[in-house]
Amino acid sequence: MPAVTPEDLIRPAIRALAAYHVPDARGLIKLDAMENPYGWPEELKAAWLETLREVPLNRYPDSHATSLKESLREFMAIPASAGLILGNGSDELIQLVILALAAPGRVVLAPEPSFVMYRMIASFAGMDFIGVPLREGDFSLDLAAVLEAMGHYRPAVVFIAYPNNPTGNRFAEGEVRQLIAAAPGLVVVDEAYFSFADHSFLASLPDYDNLLIMRTLSKMGLAGLRLGLLTGSPRWLDEFEKLRLPYNINVLTQVSAEFALRQPALLDEQARCIRADRDTLLRALQVLPGITPFPSEANFILFRTPAGAAERLFAGLREAGILIKNVSGAGGLLRDCLRVTLGTPEENRTFLAALAAAL
Ligand code: PMP
Repeated sequence: MPAVTPEDLIRPAIRALAAYHVPDARGLIKLDAMENPYGWPEELKAAWLETLREVPLNRYPDSHATSLKESLREFMAIPASAGLILGNGSDELIQLVILALAAPGRVVLAPEPSFVMYRMIASFAGMDFIGVPLREGDFSLDLAAVLEAMGHYRPAVVFIAYPNNPTGNRFAEGEVRQLIAAAPGLVVVDEAYFSFADHSFLASLPDYDNLLIMRTLSKMGLAGLRLGLLTGSPRWLDEFEKLRLPYNINVLTQVSAEFALRQPALLDEQARCIRADRDTLLRALQVLPGITPFPSEANFILFRTPAGAAERLFAGLREAGILIKNVSGAGGLLRDCLRVTLGTPEENRTFLAALAAAL
């Protein structure tokens, strides 16, 4: 009998996917992944290491992460009536929501361009993905088009990144409200970049039965811990909880995240610096010939390059030791666009000089 092959067994939708590409950043200034460029002062690191000393690595972590959840509720002012579920990064929570809703013919909808994992995970789970194009020019929500698509496709879930990745803008709050009110299914407002925008739907949770809010610690300087959270009505979250693997938040993450949440002044100060540097970088990009940066409420800036130049500029920056993200390949509204994450002021200056030289 011939041996079974992947072509026989792996679902066509999976075989058609390309794995999420994470480039090798060794030796490069890393401005590609919306990380926070700042570490912690030495005394804080010492205090953190001290909290790790007694962590029982021989035991499974607290499956419910009870203590960490209490800290997160307090830190983020999550309404007492809302449920809370934690994920190994918010990526895992997107997967959990989609897994709970997946059935043949069911639809995931999101504006496009937006965070690519909404589409990818929909494919993993065998769901159809509908992307509704944002408006050309300012990447604002085309509310009429979204309402029409929701009426037509009846999506089980709509993902709204608020602010949006990779465009950096935040959709009009009133339009998002209309969208939530009109949605036939769930709406997940993904507030990954909340620290840089200060606008949230969290206080509106009690107003909508179909609203869930997602956050992550990744952009707050803790990307390596992998911790995301989803909050909303316990009626929904109790169902998702059944799909959560029992020990998805490891013990080092639980202890370290709790420690970090006890340093609100430091986290705030880092976000404040990044926001101030974002405005400086935006102004500097505005005066580079041929470059059109888009205003951002996140910790990155999307910018358009001269027609056909994105690949060359991306490669030139890489030559100069700087890794940013080339999103031009997605085409459509992102044609000729590159995305740079805010680094330290010095890294930002190095990036600007290298970009100017490559131009
Ligand atoms: N949502 C958005 C909008 C993002 O841009 C990202 C990361 N790029 C994530 C979620 C995932 O974040 P994490 O898995 O690190 O929590």
